[in-house]
This record gives sequence, C-alpha cells and structure tokens, in this order.
Amino acid sequence: MVGSSPDRFAKAPVALVSCPDYDDSRVLAALRRGVGLLGGIQRFAGANDRILLKPNILMGATANKHVTTHPAVLKAAGLLFQEAGARVRYGDSPGFGTPAGAAAKAGLAAAAHEIGMELADMSTPAQVSFNEAMIAKQLILAREALESDGIISLAKMKTHGFMRITGAVKNQFGCVPGIRKGEYHVKMPRAEHFAAMLVDVCRYLKARLYVMDGIVAMEGNGPGSGSPRRMNLLLLSSDPVALDAVFCRLVHMPPQHVPTMKPGADSGLGTWAEGTIEVLGDEVSRLSCPDFQVVREPAVLFDTSFPYYLKKWLTPHPAIDYPRCQNCGVCTSVCPLEPKAVRPPASNPDAKPVYDYKRCIRCYCCQEMCPHGAIFIKRPILSRIIHP
Ligand code: SF4
Ligand code: SF4
Repeated sequence: MVGSSPDRFAKAPVALVSCPDYDDSRVLAALRRGVGLLGGIQRFAGANDRILLKPNILMGATANKHVTTHPAVLKAAGLLFQEAGARVRYGDSPGFGTPAGAAAKAGLAAAAHEIGMELADMSTPAQVSFNEAMIAKQLILAREALESDGIISLAKMKTHGFMRITGAVKNQFGCVPGIRKGEYHVKMPRAEHFAAMLVDVCRYLKARLYVMDGIVAMEGNGPGSGSPRRMNLLLLSSDPVALDAVFCRLVHMPPQHVPTMKPGADSGLGTWAEGTIEVLGDEVSRLSCPDFQVVREPAVLFDTSFPYYLKKWLTPHPAIDYPRCQNCGVCTSVCPLEPKAVRPPASNPDAKPVYDYKRCIRCYCCQEMCPHGAIFIKRPILSRIIHP
C-alpha cells in the first residue's frame, strides 16, 4: 500500500545517504539509493498518482545561498516519481513574493522545466477543519496541496531562530499560503503552541515521504541569512519527527530542545527517541558535524509571552545591523503585528526601520525574511548566563 510502513522495520527508518555535491547524476543516484533503503519508489507513488513535490522556497534567493532546496534535488525527485508513472508538480508558498517569482530566482523553475514539471501555484487559500488537531482545529491551506493525491516533502537542512531547526515537520508550514503564515504567529506567540500548530499542519498534510537536502546545509543566522555548511548528505523517511531527530543528532543538538519533537511524538506523528529510530545507509558518526552553528538551548526556556521585563532580560530579540540594511522595507511588510513592531520612526518615514521591543512578539519573521542578512538574533546577557 502506498505510504505504509514496511513490516520489516521494527523502528522508524531514516535513510542517511552521502552525496558529495549537486551534480545531477550523483544527486539522482543518492536519492535512488535512499528510496531503495526505505523499500523502493512503489511504496510512495503509484501510476497516475498526482504527486506534489514540496521544496522549501522560503523566498526568492539564488541556489548558492542555500536558502531553498537545491534545484538538483527537486529535479532528481521529479525524475524518480515520473519514472514511477506519477503525474508530478512542485510548489511552495514563500513568505514574501510570488511562488513563480521565488521559484525562478532559486533556479527551481529552470530545473523543473528541464523535465517538463509544472509549478503548482500555492496561492489559493482553502479553509479546512481538523477536529483531531492539538491546537489548530481550523487551518488555512493552499488548495493545490489539498488536491494532490500525495505530497513528497523536500525540506532543506537549516537553522531557525524560533524553532531552532527548520526541517521536515516545519517544511509543511509552507503550504499555508503567503502572509497568512503571520496570522499563526500572532495567534500563537509561544514556542510550544506554535510548534503544536506546525505538527497539526504536518499531520493534516502528511507527506508520503520526507527528503532533506543537507548536501550543503545552512548554519548560523538561518533560515534566510545563515552561512552555507557542507554536510554532504540527504536524509529520507516517512516519519518527519524521526528525520528531524537524526538531523539534530548529526549536529550534536538534543532533539528534545526542538519544540516540535514533543507534540510530534504525543500526537503520533512520529518518534524522536534514539532507541525508536533505525538509521539505514551511512553512519551518523561518519557524517556528523559537532561544531555546526545552531542554538542548542531549549526554545521554550525563553517564552515570548513573558511579561515585558522578563522578556527583555531572557528572550533573544531581533536586531538590525544598520550598515548592511538596504532600507528595502521587507521586515516591516512581513511583521505580522498591526501596528508593526519594526518600522521607520514616525518622525522620519524614509529612515531605516527601528524596533518597538515592547510590542515585538519574537516571532523572528523579520529576521527570517530580510533579503540582505541585516537582521540577527541577539541574546540578552542573562539568557547567556543561564544557558552559556
Ligand atoms: S528587511 Fe533587512 S535590509 Fe530590508 S529594511 Fe529590514 S533590516 Fe533593512
Ligand atoms: S518585529 Fe520581527 S520579531 Fe518582532 S513581531 Fe515583528 S516580525 Fe516578529
């Protein structure tokens, strides 16, 4: 049966396959090997299935920035599912700009064109009810994602200011159309609530297979402005929680510090405990990266709903590196609050933006979407003392 777990795995299988670069044939071979380790392509698609490949297209950024899933990974996945006889499209809804514009800039549109794969414009919102949800019983999702027979998630291995990592579970949040993502931040400013909502979205839109592009990952100031970090690997699993947990172990981060792990396990989406996961293929120890730059402290320690004085001293806040700031206005546009918590001062509307930290809910959307890498996350001294 498509999407079911093969009985031969007593634990959640995660395939870890090395891949030295983005050469088309090597990526295809690595992906084919990973799918084979999980039981073969027929487990994930049948002939004529309408398959949606869901890369991470956070924003329009060129492939060498490693903000988005690499075009070679999209192309390889497209070829593999076309070989299986599926009708394959790809799509995501970026946080800023149009899906078509962002896909073109990221080189994904050109890669898709080479194999005759069309873009699913994920801009049309549709409301769905999800009674089994932990927190988000009403969801607004892209109609194109709902209309596919099956989703194949193509996540990117990156850091994330709010959720620590952006991996397989969080990749499905891209199926919330455009700026509607911000509404969830406003409704759920606490990390554990936001994480539960991400798990709800992932459960509702459960992909048949999750692939993570970690050939070149992003460390540091991710998910939009971090530094490329060569990891030379792909991860594959039908359990997104287990896949993210292996990502954590590869970068020596306790998985339980990622807020999606607990609701992911509690809701039955997947498993993160080491003894419940079987890594197939290459060894974690051979491909691990202990000095990967990621915030390893628990996200929920610094709660965004603290009273202001606690928030000020304990919660990391976004800050602007003014020499890098191009005054493009993206941070103001994507801030989900009204009035905005980052904007030009009222006395000078043409000046570069400034923060109102009393209002800021620390969702880090501004840091995530700044196209010039001018926003970083600053940790107050007290938080550094508590969690060096
Ligand atoms: S998004 Fe970045 S570059 Fe643009 S105005 Fe804000 S801080 Fe400056
Ligand atoms: S200023 Fe930035 S971190 Fe604060 S609420 Fe707005 S987008 Fe979120």
